[in-house]
Amino acid sequence: MAELLQVIRGMHDILPAEMPVWNQLEDEYRALAESYGYRQIRTPIVEKTALFARSIGAVTDIVEKEMYSFEDRNGDSLSLRPENTASVVRAGLQAGMLQDQQQRLWYCGPMFRHERPQKGRYRQFHQLGAETFGIAGADIEAELILLAARFWKRLGLEDIDLQINSLGSSDCRQRFRSILVEYFRDHYAALDEDSQRRLESNPLRILDSKNPDMQTLIEAAPALKDSVDQESRDHFDELTDILDKNGVPYQVNQRLVRGLDYYCHTVFEWVTDTLGSQGTVCGGGRYDGLVEQLGGKPNFAAGFSMGCERLVSMLIDQDKARAESGSDVYLLMRGENSVALAQQLAEALRDHMPGLELVVHAGAGSFKSQMRKADKSGASIALILGESEIEAGTVAVKFLREDRPQDEILQSEITTQMASLLGNN
Ligand code: ATP
Ligand code: MG
Repeated sequence: MAELLQVIRGMHDILPAEMPVWNQLEDEYRALAESYGYRQIRTPIVEKTALFARSIGAVTDIVEKEMYSFEDRNGDSLSLRPENTASVVRAGLQAGMLQDQQQRLWYCGPMFRHERPQKGRYRQFHQLGAETFGIAGADIEAELILLAARFWKRLGLEDIDLQINSLGSSDCRQRFRSILVEYFRDHYAALDEDSQRRLESNPLRILDSKNPDMQTLIEAAPALKDSVDQESRDHFDELTDILDKNGVPYQVNQRLVRGLDYYCHTVFEWVTDTLGSQGTVCGGGRYDGLVEQLGGKPNFAAGFSMGCERLVSMLIDQDKARAESGSDVYLLMRGENSVALAQQLAEALRDHMPGLELVVHAGAGSFKSQMRKADKSGASIALILGESEIEAGTVAVKFLREDRPQDEILQSEITTQMASLLGNN
């Protein structure tokens, strides 16, 4: 038999069993983005290498070590796209879509980076993203963040936290850059090889280093915020004000500079600690300089991009957790007339809480065997209607998965107490 060929290292097949989750992710995103007035754009997965070198920056991990670049039959240097922002700008400029007008665009598709493969890090991966053009203010940055926040809500994903930072205008960035170069030059020997190389070309990226040996040095580095001017601060204050008024929690992270060269003013990341070390599910910010850098007239731009594999993995974990968790409540009873009373209580609870998963014990049996069934059902709470409870007009509440003392609630109050007993409010 011929040798079986395997998928390329770091790339992966998406098999039918996983497709429903991918479709859910993409369908929700499409519907949501369109509902905010974003229109879809698709660009080729191959571009001239120069596009990425000019946009992402020649001295970045992506362009230095991660690009799939090759010569085509004409001898032109081409690359599989490592991200989509540069391509969207190129396409927008080419189609005359970026001049004297606003654009809200979204995209979806595969990206390629020759990284070290690990969980949540692949060589072909997929992104959902949004790019906006021609809008200068913090309002559009807030909109992008609100859109993402609503996306997590629609997907039912709760453990994703927002980190934001301001890089200031490109002048501020320039100023900060010189201060930083000076600081790191004084500690040259303590820099790792990558950072030594970046010292002159891209010192901000040193702050981004994941090398544990560098963290003390990075912690003690001059703070970006001291180089940010008043106008940039006002811009950032406007953003945080909109987020506050919309109830979006965030953390200001001074060390957040993002991996790509073209950002200014606001940068943000959505991070989860449920995925291990590859915890960033979405990154974005303002990149006003890029359009001009790619040959257009200066223009405002802001956007984000999300990693589908990481979100799919969160959705699958969530589905598993749901499938494994049993019903909420198991109701058991003992004694004369207890069955009718149990059913009455159960019906009242179902009227009051339509989503409640409640199993009423059926088929009699000893108290002990009923408790065993309650435990096996996976329920978090057992409600017990025994003789003494019936006499007292109460119901006993036993917490099956928590180390918490048994409780006693008036039957007349069980409907109003149930949500808080389950920890839902
Ligand atoms: P990271 O810090 O995780 O390397 P990044 O800053 O390189 O991320 P971006 O270029 O901002 O990532 O891409 C946006 C999102 O795409 C990331 O937040 C992540 O969810 C996802 N992503 C990036 N690289 C990969 C990869 N190699 N495999 C899977 N997902 C990825
Ligand atoms: Mg990366």
